[in-house]
Amino acid sequence: MRERCPACDLKFEREEGYFLGAMYIGYALALGMIAIFGVLLWSFAGWPFQKTVIAAVLLFLPFAPVLTLMARVLWIYLDQTIDPDKT
Ligand SMILES: [Zn+2]
Repeated sequence: MRERCPACDLKFEREEGYFLGAMYIGYALALGMIAIFGVLLWSFAGWPFQKTVIAAVLLFLPFAPVLTLMARVLWIYLDQTIDPDKT
């Protein structure tokens, strides 16, 4: 991840531990994604609950890096909406 935006020079990590808030968004996104995979698997495969949950988590794992970046982008949007960077 770059330190600053090449277009508008926004500093992405405004302070130490800035992306902690992104973890909450990432957690919510991950739970939602796992739930969707779980419902799809449950309705199509008809597996028992425990097997469905384990398979849904395994299906989710390849998406984790992309989801982490998405969560950071959403966090920056949220943060800039509430507290815009004046510099
Ligand atoms: Zn920018």
